Amino acid sequence: MASSDPRDLAGAETACVVIGAGAAGLGAARRLAEAGVPHLVLEARNRVGGRAHTVAALGSFPIDLGCEWLHSGDRNPWTALAEASGFTVDRSPPGWGEQAGGVGFAPGEVEAFNAALGAFYEAVGEDPDTEDRPASTLLTAGNRWNPLIEAVNSYVSGTDTARTSVRDLARYADTEVNWRVLEGYGALIAHHAAGLPVVLDCPVLSIDHSGPLVRVETARGAVACRAVVVTLPSGLIARGEPRFVPALPDKQAAAAGLPLGVADKVFLSVTPAADIPRGHVFGRPDRAGTGSYHLFPHGRPLIEGFYGGDCARDLEAGGPDAFESFAREELAGLFGSAVLRHLGPLAATAWAADPHALGSYSTALPGHADDRARLAGPVDGRLFFAGEATSPNDFSTAHGAYESGRRAAGEVVAALGLAPARQPVPADGRQT
Ligand SMILES: Cc1cc2nc3c(=O)[nH]c(=O)nc-3n(C[C@H](O)[C@H](O)[C@H](O)COP(=O)(O)OP(=O)(O)OC[C@H]3O[C@@H](n4cnc5c(N)ncnc54)[C@H](O)[C@@H]3O)c2cc1C
Repeated sequence: MASSDPRDLAGAETACVVIGAGAAGLGAARRLAEAGVPHLVLEARNRVGGRAHTVAALGSFPIDLGCEWLHSGDRNPWTALAEASGFTVDRSPPGWGEQAGGVGFAPGEVEAFNAALGAFYEAVGEDPDTEDRPASTLLTAGNRWNPLIEAVNSYVSGTDTARTSVRDLARYADTEVNWRVLEGYGALIAHHAAGLPVVLDCPVLSIDHSGPLVRVETARGAVACRAVVVTLPSGLIARGEPRFVPALPDKQAAAAGLPLGVADKVFLSVTPAADIPRGHVFGRPDRAGTGSYHLFPHGRPLIEGFYGGDCARDLEAGGPDAFESFAREELAGLFGSAVLRHLGPLAATAWAADPHALGSYSTALPGHADDRARLAGPVDGRLFFAGEATSPNDFSTAHGAYESGRRAAGEVVAALGLAPARQPVPADGRQT
């Protein structure tokens, strides 16, 4: 069970240390538990889940501040884990290509935009070795839908098309089935920590791999181990946190090619009396800096706004009220200012400012798609790397993170010469 026991870790020794208790770290830990490999999971925050985080809004409704969608839900391992653990998978479609009530668009324009967006993704293609150039080169000059295509790219990649690698986009594997977990994706991932030896409030400061054992220095003392699985966001690795001794310049360089883009959310309460339809809307059809809004998600009295790239960064810089003001302005533009009295503040995120994340999800810079494989590669048969940024085809997602953790833990098992599965741990987290 996750613990914040402040006991001093000094002198502790184990076979493997997993750094980070997000989807990747928990995937790694569960795989190690299945193989009977003694391990510890060291987590800087006072909670598990990392960029997966469900909180309660309006007293009872779970809202996901981080990941929310079971992308590629029909092959996403979290779907089966959810159902095995008593969580509810909502299979209703996301409605991203729809504009509820047709507001803000002239007749026929929603179809015209979807055709332009489809043409952009067709130009991206699925060739994993396509030329590694900026995605902006695929935009048709003068296309009136370019700003909204930029907006969609900012939601998908957390940045603009000039800083997005086409090869990386082409490698992303998407079955286009997107489901949700009614109780929250973050709650599901946190549930998966049950029974695992997680130490909270335990930031790792350095990883000394110069001696016969690896020494993981934390704010609560050092742990000696034979192998380490590093699952930290690429932005932290790029800036040398934690510090490797000796340094790993190749890893840092690979991580720098995979910076975290920014995506943020705002949640507003909305009274049922508001003259607002259910479904999805874009805030504005004519600008890149606009929100994607879910109106009454799951029939709940909420509006959820989603912002990416520079728009999200600028709103973060504007302070906690900036998201709400921006959402109110866009919603009033769509539905009239009379709706404003029906809206109230609930929550807003600031993932770029989060010191343990530094952003929302990784995107390969043009020319850097192959950095994912460089970041994923083990070092000396003792240092192993996981995290969403290392996933070859499911990067930027919680399922890619989870699979990467299991992959890295499998590498640990092989490297330590340990026998395969000895102690199966049930998927619902119950202890055997
Ligand atoms: C707003 C938003 C929306 C998203 N939407 C979706 C979505 O709909 N679907 C989807 O699949 N994905 C989505 N994602 C992405 C998804 O949340 C991430 O890809 C995934 O959770 C990353 O998991 P991870 O384990 O690789 O990294 P993390 O979850 O970041 O885990 C790394 C852990 O390491 C910890 N850590 C950091 N530094 C240290 C240190 N020095 N010592 C010890 N621990 C440390 C961190 O606190 C963290 O817990 C979204 C993310 C955001 C922010």
